Amino acid sequence: MFHKKIIKNIDYGCLCPICLNYFDQRDNSLLTFDHNPPKSLGGKDDVLTCETCNNVAGHKIDKELLTALKEIEINGFKANTKFRKRIKNDSTKNETVTADFTIGKNNEIVMNLIKQDSNPVAYDNFIKSKSMSYSNPMFFTDEPFYSGWTTGYKFTIEKEQKSDERLSSICLLKIAYLIAYQKLGHIFLFNQNLDKVREQIKFPEREIIKNPFWIHFDFPDECLGLNLITIPKELKCFLIIFDLETKAGKY
Ligand SMILES: [Zn+2]
Repeated sequence: MFHKKIIKNIDYGCLCPICLNYFDQRDNSLLTFDHNPPKSLGGKDDVLTCETCNNVAGHKIDKELLTALKEIEINGFKANTKFRKRIKNDSTKNETVTADFTIGKNNEIVMNLIKQDSNPVAYDNFIKSKSMSYSNPMFFTDEPFYSGWTTGYKFTIEKEQKSDERLSSICLLKIAYLIAYQKLGHIFLFNQNLDKVREQIKFPEREIIKNPFWIHFDFPDECLGLNLITIPKELKCFLIIFDLETKAGKY
């Protein structure tokens, strides 16, 4: 998830943008170059943080955001995704059957039932629960061999939520904070209003900022990066816009 490079030329030392600890040349081994946003989410630009912040704050919350985005993709049956789910219908009673779903690039869905991971009785009952339905072939004139009868299975998919929404939003906060630091440099770190943000990133489990929020909106590309909102005065803030990319899509 992260990579290290030998860091040369830190003649004057450097500050970790998250904990604000100072490191001089002798402390090279305590510093880490990492992608921001995380590499697993399509990030390319490097940012230098200390190893502790990278491990404690970084990886734990990066993983949460990746899991949250994967869940959005799975629950939305997004193209180019693969996932395993538990499914059930009336025939399986309170038991479930395990199925692997593959969503192709044109949104075609392939479902494979996994016998060894399913309740054996529920599995057999599910197979037998195939239903036939009839649609008037007159309405399907494009399909010359269509008899009107189709077979299918009706079932529901068990929804499970593994990701922690709050930790995911702290990861978004960390990405935005580090982008602002990358653009503005060390001067950005001396803004005392950001102490709380740093504290929150350092201790993601504590509730330092109540309900951190973010907007999922397709802003034009020219807005990417750091934006300063100055009017109205009450909404004065930094607005940081960035893309995230997973194997299945862009956000
Ligand atoms: Zn640090």
